[in-house]
Amino acid sequence: MVKKLWTQIGSIGNNVWFGLKISFLASRKYFFLKCLILLSTTLLPLTTIWLWKEILNRVIGGDVQTVICYLVCYLLLTLVTYLLAKVNQYISNRYNDELLFYIDGVMIEKVSRMDLSFFDSASMGDKVRQTRSNFGEMMNITWMIFGILSDCINVLAALIIVTTYRWWIGLATVLLLIPYMRYNKKYSERRYQLAKQQQRDQRRMNYYNGVFFDTNIQFEMKLNHTGSYFIQKYHEAWLKLYRINKREDIRYNSINAGLSILNILSELLVMAISVVDVYAGHIGVGDLQYNLSMVSRLREQIRALMAGINDFMMENTMLNEMQEFVSMKPEYEKSGSRIPSANPRVEFEHVSFRYPGTEQYVLKDCSFTIEPHEKVGLIGLNGAGKTTIVKLLFRFYDPESGCIKLDGVDLKEYDIYAVRGIFGVLFQDYVRYSLPLREIIALSDFEQRYNEEKLRAVCDLTGVSDIIKDWEDGFDSVLGRNYVDNGKDLSGGQWQLVSLARAYFKDCDYMILDEPSAALDPVSEDRIFEQLYRLSEGKSAVTISHRLSNTTLADRLLILGDGHIIEQGPHEELLKQNGEYARLFRLQASKYMG
Ligand code: ADP
Repeated sequence: MVKKLWTQIGSIGNNVWFGLKISFLASRKYFFLKCLILLSTTLLPLTTIWLWKEILNRVIGGDVQTVICYLVCYLLLTLVTYLLAKVNQYISNRYNDELLFYIDGVMIEKVSRMDLSFFDSASMGDKVRQTRSNFGEMMNITWMIFGILSDCINVLAALIIVTTYRWWIGLATVLLLIPYMRYNKKYSERRYQLAKQQQRDQRRMNYYNGVFFDTNIQFEMKLNHTGSYFIQKYHEAWLKLYRINKREDIRYNSINAGLSILNILSELLVMAISVVDVYAGHIGVGDLQYNLSMVSRLREQIRALMAGINDFMMENTMLNEMQEFVSMKPEYEKSGSRIPSANPRVEFEHVSFRYPGTEQYVLKDCSFTIEPHEKVGLIGLNGAGKTTIVKLLFRFYDPESGCIKLDGVDLKEYDIYAVRGIFGVLFQDYVRYSLPLREIIALSDFEQRYNEEKLRAVCDLTGVSDIIKDWEDGFDSVLGRNYVDNGKDLSGGQWQLVSLARAYFKDCDYMILDEPSAALDPVSEDRIFEQLYRLSEGKSAVTISHRLSNTTLADRLLILGDGHIIEQGPHEELLKQNGEYARLFRLQASKYMG
């Protein structure tokens, strides 16, 4: 029990430290200003209550001069308190801006350096999404910590003042609060559990709500007239959550009201003692008022402190996750330092691999070699593992066993970014960036984005020039409508051509095109492959496809099946062998020929 409590305190302390560190790093200036204001806003009300006590005592004692003097001080303090509240508001807003920017920056920077495998498994994907929203919450946590610090100072000050009057009144106030605090702690645990249980319902409700903002679903919704169905689903999900929350609130507020009566006892106690003391002439009327204010202040501040700590504890798990995320090792830490040649021999030696968190091996004892300047077609059915081979080559993942070599040297000895730098790549899942076309194409070699000649050349080559010939702003036209109203829309095939232009834009001796024709019409498809083989004279090229008609021009074909290379050789030779490739080829040919 003690050990558990100790661990909990340790973890909270650690997280407070983490939160403070982030708050401090976000803006040293505003951090200090905020601390300063915190201290002043804590001490000013206490001084004001004390002054009020003195004024009351002096009024009754008839000391007019001092009363006037104190009244002036009181007015000045009120003015300062008011001004400080305004300054606090301004500083909090600026600090908010800086915190948000800093926290976003930390998150983005970290994610940009994480291994791809980090995003793979569903749990990790959830973790990234979770951490993202956690980082958004981080700002609240900063305010929470400042709130707790402020409450601590307030409780301490009120406790000292009350116990100085009668030590046991301070003690009684704290003891009378225990049932209230215990109930509230139990209740917040219950709320936490409930919130966890409700997550699924909450997600369901958000899903039903989200469908109205998804353009793809909107299209179908209008077509099939399913809007009212989703509205009803949304309403049902909302009602379920609403009813539970209503029941909980009624229960909480009634028990809390009962417990609050207990808390008022400490005020009755101090009132009775103070009245006796006033009659006995030990204290003035001002002291009576002062004692009352202090006891009620002590009680309220302890409540606020406990509520703050409770809230913070609820965020503790989230902070643990964030700390775990921040301390994750970025990918460059697994990089070697060797620089690869522009056109290396690529060897896979007995490579086996399965994706993190999955049972099924995608590659099993897979071995093959691609010689420099060779044009190879990598062929296999959907899901055979072709893209996985490319991902392993770029060290997005490492093999579970076996070895990948460049020019006979283990890939792990190479600088990870230099390796990626030698390849011009088109991935199967092309990205629809919302940027000016010039930048979208030049992302692979950004320094060259204003090289009009080079841009024109790749656009002519890939057929992008035909798409943009009527665009007024040419290369400066923005694609997508995420943030501009007149952004250009492209079809899937056109996007693929733009991605291809990007792959070509990078001057490199090694092209890898993963399903370059998946979304293309037959004319573009033909042109792409013809250009590819013509342009990669003296270069290496790997084309990945499950469509065999285009790969016949390759020097050599590697047929991937059952996790390894089952056949390899030039097209004609493989046809003669009459194995798997020949079977697939004839199957596809018969579809075209009828
Ligand atoms: P191909 O390119 O031959 O169509 P892939 O290499 O993309 O196939 O995928 C091979 C297998 O690995 C498929 O069964 C696919 O579902 C699985 N796979 C691909 N990516 C992941 C991933 N990130 N996590 C888990 N499984 C994956």
